[in-house]
Amino acid sequence: MSILKVRVYGDEVLRKKAKEVNKISKKIQILVENMIATLYAYNGVGLAAPQVGESLRIFVIDVSEANQPKNPIIFINPKIIQKSGAINSYEGCLSFPEVYTDVRRYKNVKVKATNLQGKPFTIEAKDGELLAIAIQHEFDHLEGKLFVDHARNRFATDEALISHKLNPIDMNYFMEENDLEEEIAKESETKNE
Ligand code: ZN
Repeated sequence: MSILKVRVYGDEVLRKKAKEVNKISKKIQILVENMIATLYAYNGVGLAAPQVGESLRIFVIDVSEANQPKNPIIFINPKIIQKSGAINSYEGCLSFPEVYTDVRRYKNVKVKATNLQGKPFTIEAKDGELLAIAIQHEFDHLEGKLFVDHARNRFATDEALISHKLNPIDMNYFMEENDLEEEIAKESETKNE
């Protein structure tokens, strides 16, 4: 197993739409093994193939706690088949060293994917749990989208990016997501009552 180099924001591979995996070849198996090793080496929650320079529809997620046994989930050719609700998510990304910011996410998602044995599976993640957030974050990487494109406060996010010597938000990719924003605002109102 080897630890792969993680591409940093600004690298154009992160903006490419990744290609479907047609066959789970030996090469794909090795790539996935190395992605998992890389995820653990960086103490990440998720890692998508484009982040290691491979523009393929694969990501790995492990939401287990430090004191729990490791539990990597491998998603090949994933599709998000349901999404609902909205939530504020304070996120970072291995491709944005040390940058954290508030972004909009759906609260619940259902995803269909194939595992490393080529078997299809479906996972439902609810109530804004870490898995629900991680699935959306990693799926975005396959579409050439990045978490800062969902920034709730574009100026605060730009500040965080610039202070870590990264480019500000690229307005060609920025998403307004007014419907999600309204739903998040509604939820925080009810909480404050
Ligand atoms: Zn990421």
